[in-house]
Amino acid sequence: MASSTGVVLRRTRSFYYVDVGEAEPRLCRIRGNLFETSRYDQKVAVGDHVRLDLSAAEDAGWILEILPRHSKLARTSREGSTEQILVANADTLLIVAAVRKPDFRQGLTDRLLVAGLAGNLTPVIVLNKTDLASPEQIAPLQALYEGLGYEVLLTSATESQGLDALRKRLQRQSTVLSGHSGVGKSSLVKALFPDWNIRIGHVNQKVGKGRHTTVLAEMYRLPDGGYLVDTPGIRELEPAGVTRANLDTFFVELTPFRTQCRFVGCSHQHEPDCAVKDALAEGLITTSRYESFVAFWQSLPRASDGRPPGR
Ligand code: GDP
Ligand code: ZN
Repeated sequence: MASSTGVVLRRTRSFYYVDVGEAEPRLCRIRGNLFETSRYDQKVAVGDHVRLDLSAAEDAGWILEILPRHSKLARTSREGSTEQILVANADTLLIVAAVRKPDFRQGLTDRLLVAGLAGNLTPVIVLNKTDLASPEQIAPLQALYEGLGYEVLLTSATESQGLDALRKRLQRQSTVLSGHSGVGKSSLVKALFPDWNIRIGHVNQKVGKGRHTTVLAEMYRLPDGGYLVDTPGIRELEPAGVTRANLDTFFVELTPFRTQCRFVGCSHQHEPDCAVKDALAEGLITTSRYESFVAFWQSLPRASDGRPPGR
Protein backbone atom coordinates (compact mmCIF):
# COMPACT_ATOMS: atom_id res chain seq x y z
CA MET A 1 0.00 0.00 0.00
CA ALA A 2 1.40 3.38 -1.02
CA SER A 3 1.17 5.93 1.78
CA SER A 4 1.75 9.64 1.66
CA THR A 5 1.32 12.60 3.98
CA GLY A 6 -1.01 15.58 4.11
CA VAL A 7 -2.19 18.44 6.28
CA VAL A 8 -5.69 18.58 7.79
CA LEU A 9 -7.35 21.84 6.69
CA ARG A 10 -10.81 21.35 8.07
CA ARG A 11 -12.89 18.74 9.73
CA THR A 12 -16.50 17.91 10.21
CA ARG A 13 -17.92 15.26 12.46
CA SER A 14 -16.71 12.42 10.31
CA PHE A 15 -14.72 13.88 7.43
CA TYR A 16 -11.34 15.49 7.24
CA TYR A 17 -10.31 17.75 4.38
CA VAL A 18 -6.66 17.02 3.83
CA ASP A 19 -4.25 19.04 1.72
CA VAL A 20 -1.99 16.66 -0.19
CA GLY A 21 -0.59 19.33 -2.51
CA GLU A 22 -3.30 18.90 -5.15
CA ALA A 23 -5.67 21.64 -6.30
CA GLU A 24 -8.45 20.34 -4.07
CA PRO A 25 -8.18 18.76 -0.64
CA ARG A 26 -8.93 15.09 -0.26
CA LEU A 27 -11.97 14.06 1.72
CA CYS A 28 -10.58 11.59 4.22
CA ARG A 29 -11.94 9.40 6.95
CA ILE A 30 -10.43 7.44 9.76
CA ARG A 31 -10.81 3.75 10.10
CA GLY A 32 -12.59 3.34 13.41
CA ASN A 33 -10.18 0.80 14.79
CA LEU A 34 -7.12 2.99 14.42
CA PHE A 35 -7.49 5.07 17.53
CA GLU A 36 -8.76 2.80 20.22
CA THR A 37 -7.40 4.51 23.31
CA SER A 38 -9.68 7.55 23.08
CA ARG A 39 -12.45 8.79 20.85
CA TYR A 40 -10.76 9.13 17.50
CA ASP A 41 -12.86 12.09 16.39
CA GLN A 42 -11.32 14.23 19.11
CA LYS A 43 -7.80 13.33 18.29
CA VAL A 44 -7.20 14.62 14.79
CA ALA A 45 -6.97 18.42 14.81
CA VAL A 46 -6.83 21.05 12.11
CA GLY A 47 -3.18 21.48 11.20
CA ASP A 48 -2.26 17.90 11.95
CA HIS A 49 0.18 16.26 9.62
CA VAL A 50 -1.21 12.85 8.85
CA ARG A 51 -0.08 9.74 7.05
CA LEU A 52 -2.58 8.68 4.44
CA ASP A 53 -3.64 5.87 2.21
CA LEU A 54 -4.82 7.49 -1.01
CA SER A 55 -4.97 4.39 -3.13
CA ALA A 56 -8.70 3.72 -2.84
CA ALA A 57 -10.11 6.70 -4.76
CA GLU A 58 -9.18 9.72 -6.84
CA ASP A 59 -10.50 12.31 -4.43
CA ALA A 60 -10.70 10.57 -1.06
CA GLY A 61 -8.44 8.76 1.34
CA TRP A 62 -7.91 7.15 4.71
CA ILE A 63 -6.05 8.69 7.62
CA LEU A 64 -3.66 6.13 9.01
CA GLU A 65 -1.65 8.03 11.57
CA ILE A 66 -1.11 11.45 13.16
CA LEU A 67 2.51 12.53 12.86
CA PRO A 68 4.20 14.19 15.86
CA ARG A 69 3.15 17.80 16.52
CA HIS A 70 5.64 20.61 17.06
CA SER A 71 3.07 23.00 18.46
CA LYS A 72 -0.53 23.06 19.53
CA LEU A 73 -2.94 25.79 20.38
CA ALA A 74 -5.21 24.13 22.88
CA ARG A 75 -7.82 25.15 25.37
CA THR A 76 -9.38 23.58 28.38
CA SER A 77 -12.87 22.51 27.42
CA ARG A 78 -15.93 24.11 29.01
CA GLU A 79 -16.95 20.91 30.76
CA GLY A 80 -13.78 20.47 32.70
CA SER A 81 -10.22 19.51 32.41
CA THR A 82 -9.99 17.84 29.03
CA GLU A 83 -7.86 19.51 26.43
CA GLN A 84 -9.26 20.56 23.10
CA ILE A 85 -6.75 21.21 20.35
CA LEU A 86 -7.82 24.10 18.13
CA VAL A 87 -4.81 24.05 15.83
CA ALA A 88 -1.78 21.79 15.56
CA ASN A 89 1.64 22.61 14.10
CA ALA A 90 1.13 26.35 13.66
CA ASP A 91 4.35 28.36 13.64
CA THR A 92 3.06 31.83 14.36
CA LEU A 93 0.26 33.35 16.38
CA LEU A 94 -0.65 36.65 14.78
CA ILE A 95 -2.18 38.87 17.44
CA VAL A 96 -4.00 41.63 15.63
CA ALA A 97 -4.95 44.68 17.68
CA ALA A 98 -6.14 48.14 16.77
CA VAL A 99 -4.33 51.11 18.22
CA ARG A 100 -7.63 52.98 18.24
CA LYS A 101 -11.25 52.23 17.32
CA PRO A 102 -11.53 49.96 19.17
CA ASP A 103 -8.97 51.08 21.74
CA PHE A 104 -5.97 48.86 22.27
CA ARG A 105 -6.88 46.09 24.69
CA GLN A 106 -3.80 45.07 26.55
CA GLY A 107 -5.48 42.40 28.66
CA LEU A 108 -6.50 40.42 25.60
CA THR A 109 -3.15 40.95 23.89
CA ASP A 110 -1.29 39.63 26.93
CA ARG A 111 -3.66 36.68 27.22
CA LEU A 112 -3.09 35.74 23.61
CA LEU A 113 0.65 36.06 24.09
CA VAL A 114 0.48 33.53 26.90
CA ALA A 115 -1.70 31.21 24.81
CA GLY A 116 0.80 31.30 21.97
CA LEU A 117 3.82 30.77 24.18
CA ALA A 118 2.12 27.93 26.06
CA GLY A 119 1.45 26.18 22.75
CA ASN A 120 4.99 26.69 21.42
CA LEU A 121 3.97 29.22 18.77
CA THR A 122 5.90 32.40 18.05
CA PRO A 123 3.68 35.38 18.79
CA VAL A 124 3.74 38.37 16.45
CA ILE A 125 1.81 41.51 17.32
CA VAL A 126 0.17 43.48 14.54
CA LEU A 127 -0.89 46.99 15.48
CA ASN A 128 -3.47 47.88 12.85
CA LYS A 129 -5.38 51.08 12.10
CA THR A 130 -2.23 53.15 12.44
CA ASP A 131 -3.92 55.72 10.21
CA LEU A 132 -6.29 56.53 13.08
CA ALA A 133 -3.57 57.01 15.69
CA SER A 134 -0.80 59.48 16.33
CA PRO A 135 2.86 58.44 16.58
CA GLU A 136 2.62 59.29 20.30
CA GLN A 137 -0.09 56.66 20.69
CA ILE A 138 1.69 54.00 18.66
CA ALA A 139 5.28 54.34 19.90
CA PRO A 140 4.75 53.31 23.56
CA LEU A 141 2.89 50.14 22.58
CA GLN A 142 5.51 49.22 20.03
CA ALA A 143 8.30 49.93 22.53
CA LEU A 144 6.64 47.90 25.28
CA TYR A 145 6.31 44.72 23.24
CA GLU A 146 9.55 45.04 21.33
CA GLY A 147 11.23 45.60 24.69
CA LEU A 148 9.86 42.25 25.81
CA GLY A 149 11.38 40.63 22.74
CA TYR A 150 8.29 40.27 20.55
CA GLU A 151 8.03 41.22 16.92
CA VAL A 152 5.66 44.13 16.29
CA LEU A 153 4.32 45.05 12.86
CA LEU A 154 2.50 48.29 12.16
CA THR A 155 -0.25 48.21 9.54
CA SER A 156 -3.13 50.09 8.10
CA ALA A 157 -5.42 47.92 6.03
CA THR A 158 -7.28 50.88 4.60
CA GLU A 159 -4.15 52.89 3.73
CA SER A 160 -2.16 49.83 2.58
CA GLN A 161 0.62 50.49 5.07
CA GLY A 162 2.93 47.74 6.27
CA LEU A 163 1.34 45.09 4.10
CA ASP A 164 4.51 43.89 2.38
CA ALA A 165 6.20 43.14 5.68
CA LEU A 166 3.13 41.28 6.91
CA ARG A 167 2.77 39.31 3.67
CA LYS A 168 6.40 38.29 3.97
CA ARG A 169 5.88 37.23 7.57
CA LEU A 170 3.10 34.86 6.52
CA GLN A 171 5.05 33.19 3.72
CA ARG A 172 5.76 29.49 4.09
CA GLN A 173 4.46 29.59 7.66
CA SER A 174 1.38 28.27 9.28
CA THR A 175 -0.15 31.31 10.97
CA VAL A 176 -3.11 31.55 13.32
CA LEU A 177 -5.07 34.76 13.10
CA SER A 178 -6.31 36.14 16.41
CA GLY A 179 -7.60 39.32 17.95
CA HIS A 180 -10.78 41.01 19.04
CA SER A 181 -13.50 41.49 16.43
CA GLY A 182 -13.42 44.84 14.69
CA VAL A 183 -9.66 45.26 14.80
CA GLY A 184 -9.34 44.61 11.07
CA LYS A 185 -8.43 40.96 10.61
CA SER A 186 -10.62 40.36 7.57
CA SER A 187 -9.69 43.75 6.11
CA LEU A 188 -6.02 42.87 6.40
CA VAL A 189 -6.47 39.51 4.72
CA LYS A 190 -8.42 41.14 1.91
CA ALA A 191 -5.79 43.85 1.50
CA LEU A 192 -2.97 41.31 1.51
CA PHE A 193 -4.57 38.93 -0.97
CA PRO A 194 -7.20 40.83 -2.99
CA ASP A 195 -7.95 37.92 -5.33
CA TRP A 196 -8.28 35.37 -2.61
CA ASN A 197 -11.81 34.43 -1.87
CA ILE A 198 -12.07 33.46 1.76
CA ARG A 199 -14.24 34.74 4.54
CA ILE A 200 -12.42 35.34 7.78
CA GLY A 201 -14.45 35.30 10.97
CA HIS A 202 -17.20 33.05 9.71
CA VAL A 203 -16.07 29.81 11.22
CA ASN A 204 -18.95 28.39 13.18
CA GLN A 205 -18.05 27.51 16.71
CA LYS A 206 -21.42 26.22 17.85
CA VAL A 207 -21.95 22.57 18.47
CA GLY A 208 -24.72 21.85 15.99
CA LYS A 209 -27.52 19.36 16.09
CA GLY A 210 -28.12 16.51 13.70
CA ARG A 211 -26.16 16.92 10.54
CA HIS A 212 -24.49 20.13 11.61
CA THR A 213 -20.88 20.13 12.60
CA THR A 214 -18.47 21.43 15.13
CA VAL A 215 -15.89 23.58 13.45
CA LEU A 216 -13.18 24.73 15.82
CA ALA A 217 -10.86 26.05 13.20
CA GLU A 218 -10.39 26.25 9.49
CA MET A 219 -7.12 26.39 7.69
CA TYR A 220 -6.55 27.97 4.28
CA ARG A 221 -3.65 27.44 1.91
CA LEU A 222 -2.16 30.87 1.21
CA PRO A 223 -1.70 31.95 -2.40
CA ASP A 224 2.09 32.33 -1.93
CA GLY A 225 2.59 29.22 0.18
CA GLY A 226 1.93 28.68 3.83
CA TYR A 227 -1.35 28.45 5.71
CA LEU A 228 -3.64 30.83 7.49
CA VAL A 229 -5.87 29.55 10.27
CA ASP A 230 -9.11 31.14 11.34
CA THR A 231 -10.38 30.05 14.72
CA PRO A 232 -13.05 31.84 16.71
CA GLY A 233 -12.41 29.89 19.89
CA ILE A 234 -9.16 31.64 20.55
CA ARG A 235 -10.65 34.88 21.83
CA GLU A 236 -11.95 33.58 25.13
CA LEU A 237 -9.26 30.99 25.20
CA GLU A 238 -8.42 29.39 28.47
CA PRO A 239 -5.12 28.00 27.29
CA ALA A 240 -4.39 24.40 28.17
CA GLY A 241 -1.36 23.93 30.37
CA VAL A 242 -1.54 27.39 31.95
CA THR A 243 -2.16 27.38 35.68
CA ARG A 244 -1.92 29.82 38.56
CA ALA A 245 1.29 28.08 39.52
CA ASN A 246 3.06 28.50 36.17
CA LEU A 247 1.48 31.67 34.74
CA ASP A 248 4.51 33.73 35.78
CA THR A 249 6.73 31.65 33.50
CA PHE A 250 4.81 33.02 30.48
CA PHE A 251 5.41 36.67 31.38
CA VAL A 252 9.02 36.99 30.27
CA GLU A 253 9.83 40.02 32.42
CA LEU A 254 8.67 38.17 35.56
CA THR A 255 10.85 35.14 35.05
CA PRO A 256 14.10 36.59 36.52
CA PHE A 257 12.26 37.45 39.76
CA ARG A 258 9.79 34.62 40.26
CA THR A 259 12.24 32.39 42.08
CA GLN A 260 13.52 35.21 44.32
CA CYS A 261 10.33 35.59 46.37
CA ARG A 262 10.31 34.50 50.00
CA PHE A 263 7.54 31.95 49.43
CA VAL A 264 7.68 29.13 46.95
CA GLY A 265 4.52 29.36 44.86
CA CYS A 266 4.21 33.09 45.56
CA SER A 267 1.24 34.61 43.71
CA HIS A 268 3.08 37.95 43.56
CA GLN A 269 0.01 39.69 44.92
CA HIS A 270 -0.43 39.57 48.71
CA GLU A 271 2.73 37.92 49.99
CA PRO A 272 5.49 39.79 51.85
CA ASP A 273 9.03 39.87 50.43
CA CYS A 274 7.85 39.36 46.88
CA ALA A 275 10.62 40.00 44.36
CA VAL A 276 8.11 40.60 41.57
CA LYS A 277 6.38 43.37 43.52
CA ASP A 278 9.78 44.84 44.38
CA ALA A 279 10.68 44.85 40.68
CA LEU A 280 7.34 46.50 39.93
CA ALA A 281 8.06 49.21 42.52
CA GLU A 282 11.45 49.80 40.92
CA GLY A 283 9.92 50.13 37.47
CA LEU A 284 11.56 46.96 36.13
CA ILE A 285 8.13 45.56 35.35
CA THR A 286 5.49 47.84 33.84
CA THR A 287 2.25 48.35 35.74
CA SER A 288 0.05 47.49 32.77
CA ARG A 289 1.73 44.13 32.25
CA TYR A 290 1.58 43.38 35.96
CA GLU A 291 -2.15 44.17 35.87
CA SER A 292 -2.58 41.77 32.96
CA PHE A 293 -0.79 39.11 34.95
CA VAL A 294 -3.03 39.61 37.99
CA ALA A 295 -6.25 39.66 35.94
CA PHE A 296 -5.23 36.47 34.13
CA TRP A 297 -4.21 34.81 37.40
CA GLN A 298 -7.59 35.68 38.95
CA SER A 299 -9.43 34.15 36.01
CA LEU A 300 -7.64 30.82 36.31
CA PRO A 301 -9.10 28.04 38.45
CA ARG A 302 -7.83 27.47 41.97
CA ALA A 303 -5.67 24.39 42.21
CA SER A 304 -8.48 22.55 44.04
CA ASP A 305 -11.62 23.28 42.00
CA GLY A 306 -11.70 22.63 38.30
CA ARG A 307 -13.23 25.96 37.31
CA PRO A 308 -12.45 29.63 37.63
CA PRO A 309 -14.56 31.68 40.06
CA GLY A 310 -17.66 33.31 38.70
CA ARG A 311 -18.53 30.78 36.02
P1 GDP B 1 -12.35 41.99 12.03
O1 GDP B 1 -13.60 41.80 12.83
O2 GDP B 1 -11.15 41.92 12.91
O3 GDP B 1 -12.25 41.08 10.86
O4 GDP B 1 -12.38 43.51 11.50
P2 GDP B 1 -12.82 44.06 10.05
O5 GDP B 1 -11.78 43.73 9.05
O6 GDP B 1 -14.21 43.62 9.77
O7 GDP B 1 -12.76 45.63 10.30
C1 GDP B 1 -13.63 46.30 11.17
C2 GDP B 1 -13.80 47.73 10.69
O8 GDP B 1 -12.56 48.42 10.78
C3 GDP B 1 -14.24 47.85 9.24
O9 GDP B 1 -15.16 48.91 9.14
C4 GDP B 1 -12.96 48.16 8.49
O10 GDP B 1 -13.19 48.92 7.33
C5 GDP B 1 -12.20 48.98 9.53
N1 GDP B 1 -10.74 48.88 9.36
C6 GDP B 1 -10.01 47.76 9.23
N2 GDP B 1 -8.70 48.04 9.13
C7 GDP B 1 -8.60 49.39 9.20
C8 GDP B 1 -7.48 50.30 9.16
O11 GDP B 1 -6.32 49.93 9.05
N3 GDP B 1 -7.78 51.63 9.28
C9 GDP B 1 -9.07 52.09 9.42
N4 GDP B 1 -9.25 53.40 9.51
N5 GDP B 1 -10.12 51.24 9.45
C10 GDP B 1 -9.89 49.92 9.35
ZN1 ZN C 1 6.24 36.97 44.46
